[in-house]
Amino acid sequence: MISVRDGQAQILARVGAPLAPELVPLARALGRVLSDDFAAPFDVPPADNSAVDGYAVGSADIPLRDTRELVVVGDLAAGSVFDGALGGGEALRIMTGAPMPAGADTVYPQELVQREGDWVRVGPIDKGTNVRRAGEDVAIGQTVIEAGTVLRPQEIGLVASLGAWQLSVRRRPRVALMSTGDEVAEPGTPRRAGQIYDANRFTLRGVIEQCGGEVTDLGIVPDVRDTLRTALRDAARAADVVITSGGVSVGVYDLVKDVLQEVGAIDFWQVAMQPGRPFAVGRIGNALFFGLPGNPVASLLSFMLFVRPALYKLAGRRRLFPATWQARAVEPMRKKSGRTEYKRGILRFRDEQWEVCTTGPQGSGILFSMVAGNCLVVLDEGRGDVAAGEIVTVEPFDTL
Ligand code: AMP
Ligand code: MG
Repeated sequence: MISVRDGQAQILARVGAPLAPELVPLARALGRVLSDDFAAPFDVPPADNSAVDGYAVGSADIPLRDTRELVVVGDLAAGSVFDGALGGGEALRIMTGAPMPAGADTVYPQELVQREGDWVRVGPIDKGTNVRRAGEDVAIGQTVIEAGTVLRPQEIGLVASLGAWQLSVRRRPRVALMSTGDEVAEPGTPRRAGQIYDANRFTLRGVIEQCGGEVTDLGIVPDVRDTLRTALRDAARAADVVITSGGVSVGVYDLVKDVLQEVGAIDFWQVAMQPGRPFAVGRIGNALFFGLPGNPVASLLSFMLFVRPALYKLAGRRRLFPATWQARAVEPMRKKSGRTEYKRGILRFRDEQWEVCTTGPQGSGILFSMVAGNCLVVLDEGRGDVAAGEIVTVEPFDTL
């Protein structure tokens, strides 16, 4: 038996350097992983500019009390620059974002002045009011997005505002995916007695794509030695990662284990966890290999615990593990010590606290538990039964 934590550490140790970088235009950058720190090529804002629509003045002309009249020497639209310099007694009509003219250091909002013809009447105001300073938001050379960041709309907008039109991101991991087993039937086709429809290839495809991977779907591979061997070898040639589900437990008909041993260097683990337990990891050719258990909940959970961090590391991400939170259990939960258990839970905020209950029956084949739930309740190895009211760790399904 191996603990979840040791398994995760061993897997990450097997993942080598992140995939090569490639350039993508900003319109294709959403969800991609930045390969290098992105530094600002210029100050933001690039020049001192007005924060409001109003009148720019030199502070020497600001009256200490009462009001005074200044002559309006020009009208500066957004996007244009005032060539001259403001002299004493002068004001310039200015729009939000327009650069401050030489000789001005303060802007009156237009609501605070009275305009009459070419004149504007102004009162007391603090020097420097309504001026945004060059470099105030971002200084030239400053790292604004760190390598390993998953690009969200706001990162892409920031990059665009800095004048770049493409970014260097990591190539997406290519993941070859297959289901194994004669009992597994393709959805949309008739199913023979004793067969079940393939669920795993569909949950796994979804979660791989959510993790930024590119899936090659190799379908259902029957329990036939030669077919399986060929499928695995072919998969490994084109992919960074090969994932199978089913056939890693100890059933008599589990050919998968046998064939894996022929084609690659694979370790078979018994992980101290529930659901899940049998798990295979290793290499076929240059590809990383993961053999997930067949039970739908076990396969998805094993993916989340062991494959997701590996894909993230390969993709050059900074954060490999999801955030966890604490919540109050509103019902007792059975828990065997000596293994980590993952209940599917419903997390909600009620009576001013976060509370969690389970989704009901927790069998490792009950995929509906993942549909009904919005989080995992993570009960550590050392823990025993949980009484109602105890605090437990929860992991929201953020990539699910
Ligand atoms: P195995 O790991 O092959 O012993 O399978 C364990 C259980 O998971 C069995 O009940 C299988 O029928 C089921 N199972 C295996 N593969 C899939 C799949 N692709 N989709 C849904 N259930 C599966
Ligand atoms: Mg099987």
